[in-house]
Amino acid sequence: MEEFQRIILVHYHEIGLKGRNRGVFEKRLQKNLEALLGAYPVVTIHRISGRLLVFLREGTTLEVANQCTDAILGVPGVARASCGFKCDLDIEVMGRAACIALAEAEPFSTFKVSARRNHTVFPIDSMQMNRDIGEVLCERFPEKRVQMKGQDVTVGVEAVEGTAYVYARSVRGIGGLPVGSSGKVVCLLSSGIDSPVATWRMARRGAVPIGVHFSGRPQTSDASEYLVDDIAHVLERTGCIGRVYVVPFGDYQREISLSCPPSLRVILYRRLMFRVAEELARREGAGALVTGESLGQVASQTLDNIRATNDAVELPVLRPLIGSDKLEIIEAAQELGTFEISSMDAPDCCTLFMPRNPETHAKLEAVREAEAAFPVEEWVTALADAAEPHDYACPAYKPPKKRE
Ligand code: ATP
Ligand code: MG
Repeated sequence: MEEFQRIILVHYHEIGLKGRNRGVFEKRLQKNLEALLGAYPVVTIHRISGRLLVFLREGTTLEVANQCTDAILGVPGVARASCGFKCDLDIEVMGRAACIALAEAEPFSTFKVSARRNHTVFPIDSMQMNRDIGEVLCERFPEKRVQMKGQDVTVGVEAVEGTAYVYARSVRGIGGLPVGSSGKVVCLLSSGIDSPVATWRMARRGAVPIGVHFSGRPQTSDASEYLVDDIAHVLERTGCIGRVYVVPFGDYQREISLSCPPSLRVILYRRLMFRVAEELARREGAGALVTGESLGQVASQTLDNIRATNDAVELPVLRPLIGSDKLEIIEAAQELGTFEISSMDAPDCCTLFMPRNPETHAKLEAVREAEAAFPVEEWVTALADAAEPHDYACPAYKPPKKRE
């Protein structure tokens, strides 16, 4: 049987991609895919007429091509990926390639052809291509029906720059913008359910996330650090995390707990976390902090408390989950693949030195006064210096220059 080279067409949304942005966006997505698809038999990736084209090595099986497609679908910036063949720009050859592509799309009962011509030199227009290729497919698959709306499979045919690309398997991707097209953010990453989802959401909007995890060490074990590492490895699969700083925080919490009014402890812990995160953001050149907070979910997530923690920092604090319900966040965590990890129990600094009745409506004045008893600035520098960086494969991440 005739063999055609397997390709994957990567589609992205064109909204908001006018002018100069567009080239930057495409290049970023191309670089991210090149780096992330290292485990697959990819020969090269080209940019071509509003698409990225992934060429697979000759002899690549359908199974491997499908796996590679699945890997592409989870990468931010990918609106859709279509797995098919490259062939000559010749209606008969295209018909044969379409037959193979459609056979691979079994099981299905209805289909239609949707051709696109990006090359007016090719004399046959898209309507005629639809008819010609549709006819070939009807002959080859007499038991199947053509259906113009609500069809099971759409056979895509694209005539571009002297070549044709034909596919039948086309799947929606996660969309968004390529990681690295919207700057850097520092994400406060616990081993809980929410913050990994918040981190991923920011990556999907094109930011490069840097995690900061506050561990209860040396007052607790380092168990939460292992969970955060597992979470980072999940985010790493689609290039959604550059680095995670682990900050041993237990001694400082202990210090606060010894002399701060119990009801304000949590707010002071959190203000210190935000400050350290802000200092790390400054060293990394990041433009915002990110948390997994959702309004009213727990005692510390009231408007008053959000205000009292925001007050400690100047950088904008982004809370992508602020309006989400817990169930929605759990579903998102399941889809992302972090839910099971986050469901494991590990003491982190959240469980350490917790007061019985944390304040739910902290007054700024009282908070500032309580905090004035501690050498906060010194602590921030000491904690940021003590932060342990762990790097993950993220094609868009550039670490800061070494400090002398
Ligand atoms: P999560 O599921 O993300 O832990 P949560 O519902 O448990 O959130 P909190 O424990 O109040 O809520 O934490 C709110 C946010 O503060 C978290 O989403 C995270 O961004 C940040 N945070 C909490 N604990 C830590 C930690 N140990 N290290 C880093 N960030 C943390
Ligand atoms: Mg938590």
